[in-house]
Amino acid sequence: MDSCLFCKIISREIPATIVYEDEHVIVIEDINPKAPLHVLVLPRRHIATLNELTPADDGLIGEMMRRAASVALKGGFDERGYRTVFNCNRDAGQTVFHIHLHLLAGRSLTWPPG
Ligand code: AMP
Ligand code: ZN
Repeated sequence: MDSCLFCKIISREIPATIVYEDEHVIVIEDINPKAPLHVLVLPRRHIATLNELTPADDGLIGEMMRRAASVALKGGFDERGYRTVFNCNRDAGQTVFHIHLHLLAGRSLTWPPG
């Protein structure tokens, strides 16, 4: 999608620090980290919000979740713990309309979120 920030990062039009990539997903460092580890797992394919998912995306979402767990494990946060978050639309504070899974780790996180 031409105007999408994350599509531009995926196509290398805009720089980002890429920590992992494969055929389906890419993991980048968040530009405004909210924890010592804060990365975003993005699907290569443009999907604006969770509302657009179809049953054909079930495998993709599974890959995104398992990739987040794998990055957390690599960082040594598997035992201590971490948080994964998908924000959807206004009330959740979604600002980039290309779905992305936040992975936050390295500090104690409060619950519920504000
Ligand atoms: P959300 O509010 O769930 O839509 O999250 C969007 C996230 O993208 C925020 O945590 C931003 O800090 C992050 N972000 C925005 N622009 C960039 C960028 N150019 N590179 C990396 N992360 C970004
Ligand atoms: Zn996009």
